[in-house]
Amino acid sequence: MGAASSALAAGAPAASFDGRPGLIDALGRALRDLRISVTDRCNFRCPYCMPAEVFGRDFAFLPRAQVLTFEEIARLAAVFVGLGVRKLRITGGEPLARRDLPVLVRYLASLQAPGGEAVDLTLTTNGSALRALAGPLAEAGLRRVTVSLDSLDDAVFGRMNGVDFPVARVLDGIGAARSAGLAPIKVNTVVRRGLNEDAILPLARWARDQGLVLRFIEYMDVGHTNGWRLDDVVPTAEILATLDAAMPVEPVPAGYRGEVAGRYRYRDGGGEVGVIASVTRPFCGDCTRARLSADGNLFSCLFAVGGTDLKAPLRAGASDAELAALVRRVWAARADRYSELRSAATASLPKVEMHSVGG
Ligand code: SAM
Ligand code: SF4
Ligand code: SF4
Repeated sequence: MGAASSALAAGAPAASFDGRPGLIDALGRALRDLRISVTDRCNFRCPYCMPAEVFGRDFAFLPRAQVLTFEEIARLAAVFVGLGVRKLRITGGEPLARRDLPVLVRYLASLQAPGGEAVDLTLTTNGSALRALAGPLAEAGLRRVTVSLDSLDDAVFGRMNGVDFPVARVLDGIGAARSAGLAPIKVNTVVRRGLNEDAILPLARWARDQGLVLRFIEYMDVGHTNGWRLDDVVPTAEILATLDAAMPVEPVPAGYRGEVAGRYRYRDGGGEVGVIASVTRPFCGDCTRARLSADGNLFSCLFAVGGTDLKAPLRAGASDAELAALVRRVWAARADRYSELRSAATASLPKVEMHSVGG
């Protein structure tokens, strides 16, 4: 894993995005974040991500041999850190479904950026296995976690997760994460018209009481199996109006360039809430994220139709410098801004599925 110190030295463009050295894409955006999908499998069947009708018993998930090993993931992550990445998010599918995940966390938590700069390591999970794994993950070096939860009502949550998974077990998992010292704990809520708009206020009140950072996410046309329609999106403006009417909020300036969630604080001092408005207020202009699928493909946009295979060169014996050169080429050519160009026609493109590329 010697790549972290050497990759940038090999001729990367100078800084201009956020005042720090790094790779700059065709639209002037730096490479700062890497989302790593560690499995394409999941124990939930959220209809907006892995609808049960499509991802049934016969669905062909990746064979084990196609999935990157922890050593391969760690080596690629080190290359990305050498190229300027400062935030790693482990995701999936359901990342906690990957056996021995703490082993990978230990590898990733040990990565050092050139100059000793910190690398922020986090993980997004549906929370179903946190009771068992929060402790081992924290011990392995994970500092914080994001848990997805779409309602506090069992009937609604059951429909949103597609397998009638009970709310209480996710709440228990969040409790386990808290006891293990993971902080801050963020909660992601996808809002889908006709399904869980009524969950907005109860979730906001609960998150305030619990001191959790809640972020509402607009329902997106990721992949091409969820039957997305613009009419099913509850726009950020409506989410904010619902919140504001009950608990007045005001905007907070972004913490850093490239921050995805619009931040709001409760005027009574009761904390913050976020909204991720990728449909109605696209943030492509500041998008610093790359994604690595479980089978080692690099995607430069969540809505990409195709990726670049890093696994084949990795397994064929490519050096860290050669892998870095490949990533550098992909990022230099990157001109993605799907959310700014979204239309009824783009929704049906054969885009990569969310469960394989990670959220
Ligand atoms: N299984 C984990 C989980 O659910 O947290 C991690 C992977 S999941 C793909 C990552 C995030 O993407 C989750 O917060 C999920 O709610 C969100 N997501 C999935 N499909 C989405 C969609 N169509 N629109 C908006 N967000 C979506
Ligand atoms: Fe699984 Fe997460 Fe997708 Fe739901 S959103 S099906 S929990 S990967
Ligand atoms: Fe980034 Fe693509 Fe999303 Fe735009 S649409 S914010 S480029 S991932």
